[in-house]
Amino acid sequence: MEKLLKDGRLCKLLEEVDWDLAQAVRAGKCRHCGAKLHCGDFTRKPRGMVVSWDKRHSFDCSRCRKRHTPPSVRFLGRKVYVGIVVVLVAAMMHGPNARRIATLHEALGIDKRTLKRWRQWWLDVFVQTPFWKANRARFMPVLNEAGMPYCLVESFNAEGREGRIKLMEFLSPITTTSGKGVVAM
Ligand SMILES: [Zn+2]
Repeated sequence: MEKLLKDGRLCKLLEEVDWDLAQAVRAGKCRHCGAKLHCGDFTRKPRGMVVSWDKRHSFDCSRCRKRHTPPSVRFLGRKVYVGIVVVLVAAMMHGPNARRIATLHEALGIDKRTLKRWRQWWLDVFVQTPFWKANRARFMPVLNEAGMPYCLVESFNAEGREGRIKLMEFLSPITTTSGKGVVAM
């Protein structure tokens, strides 16, 4: 885990994917009125990894001002921690080598209540989202929802860097409001 938190190459790849996702939105027009989009990045101070990400890509319509936030593989909704950390740490609380909240708290310095909330979010909120309901059928064998997000991490082989990026790409639709508001915690 400590290695993950300092994986500069992973950070770089996640940045590149976010950039591509952002450019795809920027190249389009406003969903509401069809006008051009302007840059409207907002400031974030993500925790959990050694990163210099101080902005989440976002765009504003030049006419109606509506915000268009592209999906992200770096930020999981409004959570202040880097997305991959939220996934992997929550996964570590479950599964064959489950680590207790106290151990994770000590190792990572993440508040115990935050850790509990992450786990509950996967078990109670995530599995009820339209996103998950629309996508769970693509997993064979069927994933055990009581084992979230551990079974997702396993299924994407997210112990490795490539799998981590694929997993975050899979989850990226839930990071934007057009993914139907999964993000509140
Ligand atoms: Zn507009």
